[in-house]
Amino acid sequence: MSEKEPIGIYFHVPFCRRKCPYCDFYSVGATEQLLDAYTDETVRRVQQLKAEGLSADTVYFGGGTPSLLGGKRIFRLLSVLSECVSIAENAEITVEANPSADSGSFLRTCGAAGVNRLSLGMQSAVPEELAAIGRSHSPDDVLYNIEMAHSVGIDNISLDLMLGIPHQTPETLHTSLAFIKRAAPSHVSAYLLKIEEGTAFYRRRDSLPVADEDGQADLYLQTFNTLEAIGYQQYEISNAARGGAVGRHNLKYWRDEEYIGVGPAAHGFFHGRRYFFGRSLKDYLGGVEPAFDCLGGDEEEYIMLRLRLREGLTERCMKQRFGHGIPAAMRSKACAPPYAAFFTCDDEHIALTRQGMLLSNALIGMLIELL
Ligand code: SF4
Repeated sequence: MSEKEPIGIYFHVPFCRRKCPYCDFYSVGATEQLLDAYTDETVRRVQQLKAEGLSADTVYFGGGTPSLLGGKRIFRLLSVLSECVSIAENAEITVEANPSADSGSFLRTCGAAGVNRLSLGMQSAVPEELAAIGRSHSPDDVLYNIEMAHSVGIDNISLDLMLGIPHQTPETLHTSLAFIKRAAPSHVSAYLLKIEEGTAFYRRRDSLPVADEDGQADLYLQTFNTLEAIGYQQYEISNAARGGAVGRHNLKYWRDEEYIGVGPAAHGFFHGRRYFFGRSLKDYLGGVEPAFDCLGGDEEEYIMLRLRLREGLTERCMKQRFGHGIPAAMRSKACAPPYAAFFTCDDEHIALTRQGMLLSNALIGMLIELL
């Protein structure tokens, strides 16, 4: 990548009010002192970017719970960032937030700071399911946050929907999808619950009332078929948008483009190298530098990421990046029985079908072995 191409900037904000029982992301409890210390240290690290002469067209505050930082700290971080990195006029600037009844002033300050996309952790529109996953917000809070966001000019809104959570059935999922239809966000991220080791759900995994693998597959297909029927185009395994409002920041990950990650547990990909910060706020505040992970951007990585996208792997993008088209062995494997149901193929591309997306790990792994 040319250094002058616009890059993405990701801030990992590692604070949560309490730990959700299914979550293994790095986060700690927030105090005013820690929030200030995190902001000061992040400002210091952002200032170091000045020497790189970068421009950015996406900025993403993820977490954790970035809304815990408060609007003023986000305002400060964006102000400093714009002094050190040239932010494109049409940049997508996203903040993740948990729906809350008192987010009015937070959203107002975010809007004034230039945030133009809100990603809300809705997860479900069924109160019993929200309680089962340890969420304290209500569906009404989601509607209130959407209304508030629109009123301050943040019109690009994404809702997270979780699939396969305790007590979820096709009927309750229908309720959540009908809620989404009414709320009309521009974007939906729908993720299957994964029970990760080390979480409270993992310890109770044998008694959790969750769908089995087939049930999960049905919930997934129900979700994306319904979203499609109400005007959302699926553009990635877990993401759909209407009116072209794809998540431009996350698209950089799946297109294997470079981005800067800052914050405890953040990952980045810059100057061809992947790196990560340790899962320690203390180390981050103490100035510990990120560790080298691996060289990034090779053919295997590129194909693996690109096949997550509905547009899939194209002759054009392969030639542009590696000087040759889609490997012939890959094309013949994907486009012939018994795999033809899982891939769409034509002269220009191969891509996973929705059915194929359910088996993406195995199918992509199978193609990668042919490299
Ligand atoms: S799911 Fe989100 S809010 Fe819950 S602990 Fe994880 S990062 Fe925090």
